[in-house]
Amino acid sequence: MLDLSALLEALCAVVPDRRPGSPGNHAATDLVARTLTDLGWTVEMPAFPVVDWAGEPGQLTLDGRTWPVHPSPYGTGWSGTARLHAAGSEADLAGDHAGAILLLHGALTTGPLTPKGYPFYGSDRDTRIIDALEASGAAAVLAITGTAHGIAGAVDPFALIEDSAFTLPAGDLRRDAGGALLAVLAEHPQAVAELALPARRWPSTASNVLARRGDQSDRITVVAHVDTKPGTPGAIDNGTGVVVLLRVAELLADLPDDARPGVELLAMNGEDSHQAAGELDYLAATDLSRVRLAINVDGAGHRSGPTAYSTYGTPDDLDLAPLADHGLVEGPPWPQSDHMVFAMAGVPAIALTSSAMQALLVELVHSPHDTPDLTDPVLLEGAAQGIAALIRAQH
Ligand SMILES: [Zn+2]
Repeated sequence: MLDLSALLEALCAVVPDRRPGSPGNHAATDLVARTLTDLGWTVEMPAFPVVDWAGEPGQLTLDGRTWPVHPSPYGTGWSGTARLHAAGSEADLAGDHAGAILLLHGALTTGPLTPKGYPFYGSDRDTRIIDALEASGAAAVLAITGTAHGIAGAVDPFALIEDSAFTLPAGDLRRDAGGALLAVLAEHPQAVAELALPARRWPSTASNVLARRGDQSDRITVVAHVDTKPGTPGAIDNGTGVVVLLRVAELLADLPDDARPGVELLAMNGEDSHQAAGELDYLAATDLSRVRLAINVDGAGHRSGPTAYSTYGTPDDLDLAPLADHGLVEGPPWPQSDHMVFAMAGVPAIALTSSAMQALLVELVHSPHDTPDLTDPVLLEGAAQGIAALIRAQH
């Protein structure tokens, strides 16, 4: 039997982490593919281009005082001296900022800006701001952000712009540091600031991992994203989901080759990336009308309570008792993560996550604190048993 704790430890120990296209991400997808192959599944690893990134803590110095600056993930770096221009509104962006460091605050930094070309939704307001920044001639863009739990998880400061296509160097400051910096800038508006922002990005490749058994023309797809945000071990988000996926593979290893519905197991590589490259690659290659049901596991296994399930367009006669039989409870709707890739296309979907997800978004998700010791392997076993039983009940 698979050692679920050891698998989770291995997924969370890769270096630097599981950001798509990184060495750690390749180590993780290789581990998943090897485990599925060993369990007798037919495995494919379709590859696609992504942008990889590395950054380190930076700093800004003004009038002899220094503040930490966090490089925006997937942004470019910059080091040098320039005047600092504060901008708190869209109107402020219209001024002459050529060669300056723009310091965004207030109404401009209430939440992350939608990345350019994000495939699943857009915002006219965010597009206007991004366009104005890129046309400003500024040397770099810094944003005073803070937290935005629902969208950015437990990150402080969140990245205003997390976008490998954004053309300017970008970094972020926490609210306390940013407030002090604005006060010094107000006293010394002509002072020259010195910025050190070490970051760089480069092209790489990444892969989804797909394993199949039985009739694929009428199938159930079980999905868990294998990637992470930069800088998190990603135990709850979403090493646990991958471990559940692997355990489902083990529980269904005896499924006959002509099983109908068939089963597709998908380790998706892009849920936590603005590039969503794994999702787009899968959608381009897949006829979703062949998927009878999608089951997504993301954020499950936190030791604080049971695993929660929620449904999206599932038929009334789908019996969910196998989930309850294995300790899962019904939870609130959660219209995020990879089940929406299916639900938005009209495919019935089920999502599994921790019942404490709303608290985890504040305390844990996307942060360095998302470590394996916070998980309960009994919950992972229960989730896998529930999924496997629900699938077997369709045969
Ligand atoms: Zn996730």
